[in-house]
Amino acid sequence: MKLTIKDLKSQYSSYRGPVYACENINFDLDDGESIGIAGESACGKSTLGLSIIRMLQGGKTTGTILLDENSILDLSDSEFDQQYRWKKISMIFQGAMNSLDPVFTIKDQFIEVLKQHNYEGDSAQLIKDAMKSVSLDEIVLKKYPHELSGGMKQRVIIAMALLLKPNFVIADEPTTALDVLIQAQIINLLKKLKKEGMSFMLITHDLAVLSEIADKIGIMYGGQMVEFGSSHDIYKNPKHPYTQGLLKSIPTLRGDKPTYIKGVPPSLLNPPTQCRFLDRCPQAMEKCKQLPPKFKTDSGYVQCWLYEDEST
Ligand code: SF4
Repeated sequence: MKLTIKDLKSQYSSYRGPVYACENINFDLDDGESIGIAGESACGKSTLGLSIIRMLQGGKTTGTILLDENSILDLSDSEFDQQYRWKKISMIFQGAMNSLDPVFTIKDQFIEVLKQHNYEGDSAQLIKDAMKSVSLDEIVLKKYPHELSGGMKQRVIIAMALLLKPNFVIADEPTTALDVLIQAQIINLLKKLKKEGMSFMLITHDLAVLSEIADKIGIMYGGQMVEFGSSHDIYKNPKHPYTQGLLKSIPTLRGDKPTYIKGVPPSLLNPPTQCRFLDRCPQAMEKCKQLPPKFKTDSGYVQCWLYEDEST
């Protein structure tokens, strides 16, 4: 599925005023490509995912989202439900494995998902296919959530997202709160699904994971996508000082001491009109007191005044 995002803005209402969670987000993915979205907590990553699947609670989204050239923000809720949600695009929500209902078997919970989406076909076969796709034995269908390990519960949640065979899945921190062995299992599972033709938007703060699984990476900071490009370029040749800082904070086997980025992200209640990384940037200069436009890079763009000359 081809995905194009143009000038996407999402904001929440709060008693202190609007929260500008995502602003002027732009990127596109070709059919079969996957993207990783990385950045600190509250940078707008999850809001971006929820905006694309039109499940933003207490907020509104403007701009353009094209799925295979169709503008999904122009559809009514029921049209989007009937044509897209869970059928062409689905989501693995953050912490979703803890939302499995403890008093129902896994099978009953799958059936509930199918009911919610008015599925009228062969539900037994569909559930069987979904379990197979995440390498879970059918015996698991008879079990209750408390009888499953964390890794099995997360596989069940992924299977639920795959139930109606969507070709694009938004996965919000699918490995958070899992131990490293189970994290590896889930990442290997996502890699397997990708090989079988599934596309992902993988939301995480773990750039190392993204470099393994994503074709493209978008780095978010303060509600904006400050760098976008191929995962190879972002990982091997990061341009934005924030991306560089994120990569330096990852421990390496070479023994390089990880460093951290001093300071805190800006408030999205009243975001600055200058570069949002200004207060924390080690390379800040006078010009940075204005918000930088997006300058082209080999495989995408970077929003930083350091690259003004290279783009002309
Ligand atoms: Fe740093 Fe300036 Fe680039 Fe912002 S625009 S990231 S302050 S160098």
